[in-house]
Amino acid sequence: MAKKPTVASDWLCGCAGCHMSLLDMDERLVEIIQHVDLTATPITDLKQPPAAGVDVGVLEGAVNNSSNEEVAKRMRERCRVLVAMGDCAVFGGIPTMRNRGCKQAALRRAYVESESTVDGRVPDDPELAVMQEARPLDQVVEVDVYLPGCPPPADAIYLALKELAQGRMPELKGKDLDWH
Ligand code: SF4
Repeated sequence: MAKKPTVASDWLCGCAGCHMSLLDMDERLVEIIQHVDLTATPITDLKQPPAAGVDVGVLEGAVNNSSNEEVAKRMRERCRVLVAMGDCAVFGGIPTMRNRGCKQAALRRAYVESESTVDGRVPDDPELAVMQEARPLDQVVEVDVYLPGCPPPADAIYLALKELAQGRMPELKGKDLDWH
């Protein structure tokens, strides 16, 4: 029997909504699973990092800190084709709202003016999510396929995975990315 293409997915800074849209494929998920081997994904117990030589990697979310950057680079190294799934991965989406200069006000409100403040000061922690600029995935690694939408429609994810599973690059048109 021919070896099935392998697929791995992971998320960076997002809301998990794109992976939920993946699950919205419903019965078609069963069909896709018959044609691919899902080697690692946060939506099952297969949470270990993907091994080298994965055919298709799917990443959700913007790159927000050094650990996101590590995950993005690891996926790029280990996956032949890399898919940016959802607006956060494609162009930065909602996480990039923090890049607009209201950072200090947000930090003061959370850490200084809040009733639950611990010592009345903003922590000096470079890994604090809001301290860093959020970036779209292709500012960190090369991306092969863009699947926009917040989240992308289940139909678009299905079409993209089906094409990739058959060794073709998906050519999604406007109507494929429309919810209605
Ligand atoms: Fe969530 Fe939308 Fe970002 Fe997907 S694109 S992770 S649904 S905010």
